[in-house]
Amino acid sequence: MVIVFVSILLLITWLTVVLSLHCNTQNNNKPKGAEIKRKAQKKSDAVRKKALMTRSQWYTKLKTEIHRWIVHVRDKDKGCYTCGKTDPSVKYDCGHRHHAGRGGGDRRRFIEENLHKQCSVNCNQHGSGMPVEYDLALDIEYGAGFADKLKCIDNYPTLKELFPTHHDIELEIIRYRLLNKS
Ligand SMILES: [Zn+2]
Repeated sequence: MVIVFVSILLLITWLTVVLSLHCNTQNNNKPKGAEIKRKAQKKSDAVRKKALMTRSQWYTKLKTEIHRWIVHVRDKDKGCYTCGKTDPSVKYDCGHRHHAGRGGGDRRRFIEENLHKQCSVNCNQHGSGMPVEYDLALDIEYGAGFADKLKCIDNYPTLKELFPTHHDIELEIIRYRLLNKS
């Protein structure tokens, strides 16, 4: 009789331990499962968002990266392209010789020779980009006649020729992102 009682007691203890372990495992899995689900949802949202992006939105992303590269990497140690100012307290922009144009379709908007570090207020804003000084600086840097070459839009491929698909723009964004990190 005592043996039966002890056996039942042991069985109950064992069942309690097993059930408690089972519950703990389930509780531990719950947050993990939710986290995986949340990450998967985030990834699928990002893919959907990317698929819905327009060409113009891709260009805006590319613009951010290329401008950052011009001001903070390529021309980092140079002064303003049109006045030479090197004051570190001055804000600098990426100044275009020829602007992106209405709707951002100008085919020179991502041509590196058309983009240079320029002081934000004096030259870029108040001086409207200082076109005369800009052309002089272009001819000095790239050779006589370069400013005229850059003026003629037919010397450059269209944006659609440069980037036939959205993916081509994305690759260019990735390229500049890497350059900005190095
Ligand atoms: Zn300037």
